[in-house]
Amino acid sequence: MSVVGLDVGNETGVVGIARQRGIDVVLNEESKRETPAMVSFSDKQRFLGTAAAATSTMNPKNTISQIKRLIGKKFSDPELQRDLRLFPFAVKEAPDGGAAIHVRYLGDMRIFTPTQILGMILSNLKSIAEKNLGTHVVDCVIGIPVYFTELQRRAYMDAAAIAGLHPIRLMHETAATALAYGIYKKDLPEKDPIHVVFVDIGHASMQVCVAAFKKGQLKILGQAFDRSLGGRDFDEVLFNYFTEKFKEDYKIDVLSNPRASHRLRAACEKLKKVLSANPQAPLSIECLMDEKDVRGLIKREDFEKLAYPLLERVKAPLEKALTESQLPLNKINAVEVVGSGSRIPAINRILASFFQKEPCRTLNASECIARGCALQCAMLSPTFRVREFEVQDAFPFPIGLSWKGSAPESEEDQSYSNSIVFIKGNPVPSTKLLTFYRSGTFVFDTLYADTSELPPGTSPKISSFSIGPFTPTKSDRGKLKIKIQLNLHGIVSVESATLIEEEELKLPITNLKDCSQGGAEIFPIETDKEGNGGNKIEKDLDTGFEHPEKLLSENGVPSPDKLQNLETDSPKDVVKKKKTKKVAVPVNEIVVGGLPHAELQKAVEKEYEFALQDRIMEETKDRKNAVEAYVYDMRNKLYEKLQGYVSDTEREKLSTKLQQAEDWLYEEGEDETKSVYIAKLEELKQLGDPIEERQKEEEARGPAISELWY
Ligand code: ATP
Ligand code: MG
Repeated sequence: MSVVGLDVGNETGVVGIARQRGIDVVLNEESKRETPAMVSFSDKQRFLGTAAAATSTMNPKNTISQIKRLIGKKFSDPELQRDLRLFPFAVKEAPDGGAAIHVRYLGDMRIFTPTQILGMILSNLKSIAEKNLGTHVVDCVIGIPVYFTELQRRAYMDAAAIAGLHPIRLMHETAATALAYGIYKKDLPEKDPIHVVFVDIGHASMQVCVAAFKKGQLKILGQAFDRSLGGRDFDEVLFNYFTEKFKEDYKIDVLSNPRASHRLRAACEKLKKVLSANPQAPLSIECLMDEKDVRGLIKREDFEKLAYPLLERVKAPLEKALTESQLPLNKINAVEVVGSGSRIPAINRILASFFQKEPCRTLNASECIARGCALQCAMLSPTFRVREFEVQDAFPFPIGLSWKGSAPESEEDQSYSNSIVFIKGNPVPSTKLLTFYRSGTFVFDTLYADTSELPPGTSPKISSFSIGPFTPTKSDRGKLKIKIQLNLHGIVSVESATLIEEEELKLPITNLKDCSQGGAEIFPIETDKEGNGGNKIEKDLDTGFEHPEKLLSENGVPSPDKLQNLETDSPKDVVKKKKTKKVAVPVNEIVVGGLPHAELQKAVEKEYEFALQDRIMEETKDRKNAVEAYVYDMRNKLYEKLQGYVSDTEREKLSTKLQQAEDWLYEEGEDETKSVYIAKLEELKQLGDPIEERQKEEEARGPAISELWY
């Protein structure tokens, strides 16, 4: 299995791979460690990563970036609507209420879902990993923001499937960072943990988590975020400033021109970076619009004044995460800053004053998530031996159940209705077992018990599950045990439903003692409301459910069924004993977030087509280059190496052919198909090959003849 960690950012992606000696962040084709998380489309092909970024200025409308902002979101989401103003590409509402990206590709307007685009970005990162590993990559761990909703998580899983990846875990970026920090610490205490705050400010969002580290363990104690506070917001402050300034100074309205807006935004991002290291920075763009060159200058202190409202927002997530961790300030041992958006000096000052200590940059700010994900992948993989280190991640949203319409049928049911199954901060993964008393098929919803921290307008409902059909045989209401899981990806699902029926057995009195250990008692099925021991219960249930007889025999007790058939001499020696019968009940998810299977399959096939098209285009370019190279190479050789093997007329003829081919390459042959270039090369070689053959033969003969002289 491949052991790969992927960090897809709004701006860049990073690939970490596990090797026997440790984790490596691998280089892309341009020998860079970070790859733009971008896709661009043209009439001939699509471009991924660095190639896409290279075309973005020329082709802004068809260059897609910041896909994490769109993935798994409703078009009506106000945050998405705000983001759209910053995007140079067209996004419209899809029939399912999601976002649909409109681009020009292969000569037509085409529509892509954010899931498809993310699939393309992931497949680019996958191919970077494959080139470095020299093998296929399927298994991986992918980082996701801790604040992602169920729909966003499911969309990530679909995008991964489109890219031919199988995420073993979608890992919170916060936990991945904490893992990358903790696992290398040799001096972690056995008892009293040390507490570290991780602050990640990326391109579009900010995440904070407080983690406790002990020897061989990390536990997330508190986390908070601002989904819409990142480096790009600071770019926007500069962009707005210069837009206004250029209106006055140059009488141009940059906003009216998408290409000029794109160029100014890019220039402002560069300017912001310069300001991180210098007290002032100049801006100069040639021919921005209306054939005007523009110039400007800004001082860091003025930038900080303009950015004051943004800088003020940095504090709220810090406060929230600290409150959630229930730790006083003096219990925080270190503050680690990651994410490149945090390189703004004013942010550092805010962190220092809030935590009353200087923040550290021990971790590689742009690589720690990919490294943490690769580490997690290695830990989950049977092929690697990683130092024992437990990651106790926490889920940020409380999850409950509800019945819409149909009322609970019993008091026990009532206690679950609208109650919380997974609390805020619940460990991930976790399994809970709930008991229901029902007479037939019933439906319940999983829901967010508190929507205040979700994107505005998020529906509380996550999914609906139908449990049934089943037929209770003993009474009109059956007892159902339902196993609900918050899985490794932070996705909530119903894993199984079991109808539990008790049967009375008549057992010979001689076996009574042994049987008391078996029967119903073997399956300690309890509702686990604390979030602890979820896995233990799962284990008990699984074993009990699948191999009841095996379990009994492990206890050294024969199966009650067999006992029942035992002939006893005296019927009076029989005692009544209860036995639990378990019947699996079908579970159907009614409203599934993410793509239905058939559509996912279609998307996978389409991705194959696009990739094939990319490959054809690459090969075409390759063949075209081969013609060009032959023209130059042969022309030189005709006057050098091959000079003595070619007659004047032959040389004249081939030279003319080569010249014609060169002209053709720059004119009507500029944009031909692969087979045309192959044919063109063949045509030239028909004239050139015989000359080269002659020269080779002569060369081979040369030494043989000269040998005769000795
Ligand atoms: P996200 O975490 O939001 O998904 P990401 O992981 O791609 O995005 P990062 O690579 O951590 O984001 O950070 C990118 C941001 O950091 C950009 O806004 C970039 O302009 C900003 N940035 C990079 N270098 C500097 C610098 N020296 N000073 C200020 N900002 C910087
Ligand atoms: Mg990031």
